[in-house]
Amino acid sequence: MYVFEFKRYCGECGYMTRWATESEAVAALYAHYGERHPYVRLSPYGPPGMLTWRRRYRMPLQAWIAAFLVFAGLIIAVAIGAANQPSDQNTPAPCATCGDNNGGGYSPTPPNYDSGFGGASGFNAPPP
Ligand SMILES: [Zn+2]
Repeated sequence: MYVFEFKRYCGECGYMTRWATESEAVAALYAHYGERHPYVRLSPYGPPGMLTWRRRYRMPLQAWIAAFLVFAGLIIAVAIGAANQPSDQNTPAPCATCGDNNGGGYSPTPPNYDSGFGGASGFNAPPP
């Protein structure tokens, strides 16, 4: 979004107003005339002196809000990523039946079928 800024030059001396809106520049020039050149009769058809302007890009409010939301989203994503460390994620709860801690996959230590009745797996070994 572009905005225009205006600067007005005094017709009597080297004074120039600061960059401002058009009405602010005119008001500043009239204030300067009243202070420095009080005996100059000002034209009723418009402010004296010369005018210059420039066009500046001003970010609209929506763009500021969008930029803030993106920034806040990044902060939240980083916070969530820091909270969910891989060491916390990859440790499954132990199996309620067998106590295995490998998430129900292949158990590296098979249940002992030779321990007789009421073994760890509750499996009765066949008679020899
Ligand atoms: Zn002046």
